[in-house]
Amino acid sequence: MMKTLFLNPPSFEGFDGGAGSRYQAKREIRSFWYPTWLAQPAALVPGSKLVDAPARDMTVEQVLPMADDYELIVMHTSTPSFRSDAKVAAALRERNPKLKIGMVGAHVAVDPYQSMKLAPALDWVAGSEFDFTCKEVAEGHDYADIDGLTHRVNGQIVRNKPRALLENMDELPHVVDVYKRDLVIEDYFIGYLNHPYLSVYTGRGCKSRCTFCLWPQTIGGHVYRTRSVEHVVSEMAKAKEYFPQVKEFFFDDDTFTDDVPRAEAIAKGLGKLGITWSCNAKGNVPRKTLEIFKDNGMRLMVCGYESGNQQILHNIKKGMRVEQLREFSKNCHELGLKIHGTFIVGLPGETKETIKETIAFAKEVNPYTLQVSLAAAYPGTFLYNQAKQNGWLMEEDKGGRLVAEEGIQVSSISYPHLSHEEIFESLGEFYKQYYFRPGKIWEITSEMLTDWEMMKRRLREGVEFAKFLTKRENREQNAA
Ligand code: SF4
Repeated sequence: MMKTLFLNPPSFEGFDGGAGSRYQAKREIRSFWYPTWLAQPAALVPGSKLVDAPARDMTVEQVLPMADDYELIVMHTSTPSFRSDAKVAAALRERNPKLKIGMVGAHVAVDPYQSMKLAPALDWVAGSEFDFTCKEVAEGHDYADIDGLTHRVNGQIVRNKPRALLENMDELPHVVDVYKRDLVIEDYFIGYLNHPYLSVYTGRGCKSRCTFCLWPQTIGGHVYRTRSVEHVVSEMAKAKEYFPQVKEFFFDDDTFTDDVPRAEAIAKGLGKLGITWSCNAKGNVPRKTLEIFKDNGMRLMVCGYESGNQQILHNIKKGMRVEQLREFSKNCHELGLKIHGTFIVGLPGETKETIKETIAFAKEVNPYTLQVSLAAAYPGTFLYNQAKQNGWLMEEDKGGRLVAEEGIQVSSISYPHLSHEEIFESLGEFYKQYYFRPGKIWEITSEMLTDWEMMKRRLREGVEFAKFLTKRENREQNAA
């Protein structure tokens, strides 16, 4: 077995990259997802190590000496960070010319030829389902025999046949063993989750076909393949023992509630463990299921509302009616389940009026916290092709720029009737209108008054959020 390092490389300061983050950007508030996509193959390679440089605040200079200690480095990349990651790969190669370097992630899975061309330091890139691809590389198999690999043969880029979908997800070992070995749990912050939190995936893929959504269209697919209930519950029992300081466990599957009977069975298993847990959910979970969740330790669901305008929900193939979202929100409020709502401005069909409509809708359904993103056209998605065909893509020569130099998200889409500047500006306005309301301010203040830890945290986040809004406003003024 080759001595292998799995590396989430350093990038922009505070940049939450791709090894666990769906939308890679520097956040409003310092946040990091666990690098679970790298932890999964790391768990298959004995003696490997996982280094999450952004979460550790590590610089390129600090990472480079690691090149001396390993035979193989597997880096995770994303579309916004690819150019920077390619430079890190080149520097690692210069430091140790004998090193083998590969990259994984949606960006290289979607366009392996171009990725290999633009990053000459790479020996290979992997397509989707890259867990066992990495394992076979580390075991020293001939590159020609490894499914899912794109590599170089006599200066030519050669793409092997794709790797088959992993049907038996229980073949993936528990990632919490890798977390325990290599990560510092306290490094991982998500504003709406109790700190410290811990997240894992219990399955891969999402049944829905939302046109903007990256992972199901690139690395996950549209079949929700799941680990067995026993496999999940036993990992959580282990996690509880390993990390008694964890205050909340999070299931970061695209849509944990896609398989309702299984979600209910897992909930009952978690209830016996007595842990607090949360998950990603679609806004169509039946009330009876919500009751089971509530009775078994669930605290919060992350729900993608996206828009309050029905036509936009149709345009993005959300498969959801505004009325269902209202009903779901009402049920959660009544049962005492919190919601972190995610919204997007700038989706196809957006106008100044629909933005106002969505802000009003957000206030009406009133999730505990919310996150507003700019519509992002990632290569490999339906939205990207649609934007390209219609001439909506900004800086098309650069593949539609998704983040600015400092890593904050910029609008990659512009419409004849709604410019990318207007979309960009509407995001700050959305946050202000939502949070600067007497009811919301009181909700947050009363929570702070009951808990000193929460007080310190919310004050820190408040300062970061104010800085973020100021930085955005400065960008708007400079652009004007
Ligand atoms: S339901 Fe959520 S995870 Fe699934 S495709 Fe839509 S946005 Fe993506």
